[in-house]
Amino acid sequence: MGSISLKSVEKWFGEVQVIKGIDLDILYGELIIFVGPSGCGKSTLLRMIAGLEETSRGQIILDGDDVTHKVPSERELSMVFQSYALYPHLSVGNNMGFALKTAGAPKTEIAEKVNAAAETLKLNDYLDRRPKDLSGGQRQRVAIGRAIVRKPKGFLFDEPLSNLDASLRVDMRFEIARLHKTLASTMVYVTHDQVEAMTLADRIVVLKDGLIMQVGSPRELYEHPDNVFVAQFIGSPK
Ligand code: ADP
Ligand code: MG
Repeated sequence: MGSISLKSVEKWFGEVQVIKGIDLDILYGELIIFVGPSGCGKSTLLRMIAGLEETSRGQIILDGDDVTHKVPSERELSMVFQSYALYPHLSVGNNMGFALKTAGAPKTEIAEKVNAAAETLKLNDYLDRRPKDLSGGQRQRVAIGRAIVRKPKGFLFDEPLSNLDASLRVDMRFEIARLHKTLASTMVYVTHDQVEAMTLADRIVVLKDGLIMQVGSPRELYEHPDNVFVAQFIGSPK
């Protein structure tokens, strides 16, 4: 499970329309990447899917259910925030188990789920550390771990690697690809980095000014860009 359909989705901030009618079917299990220049509406669209931002018009359908007006906790999607959103005073293990604890899960269940997530993310040896005693990449893995323990229907990532240095960013790209394979869950991923999109995505959605310019596999976009904007953005010869 984890298919997400956007139907004529719009977002207005007051008089200003930033998402201008988006229709998109995100398939179960795919890693789909929203790419486009800064300010084109990537984060807003992702936050609307998460339920963190009200949808002005249109519908968001999750596994056949209309979730347009549901709060985030009713959507069973996990947003992965950047690593600096970790709780500094909690250990890695407690950061990862926090949502379950808040939801009132029993201690043994929390420990089991945290250990399983730590295994997946190769964080077993770091569960007692504080975030400040980890590298940037490890911190980002903890942020992902926090999302994993909740066993969501899908993961939403907003530029998860943008505050890592260049070499770590490449390592983490492999990590995300591996995770996508292991978890076999739907992942919606936002980046302004074309290279990241081209190397990771099953499909790419190119956005410009709140509109979809093209949707397709990295290869389709590279070989058959629909317009000059896509060609220039993806860097393909047209
Ligand atoms: P991106 O993530 O692609 O950089 P955003 O989704 O953050 O773009 O922003 C899209 C547009 O919406 C931008 O013009 C931004 O200034 C505007 N915007 C985002 N959030 C708000 C808000 N809370 N109030 C008003 N305008 C906003
Ligand atoms: Mg953004």
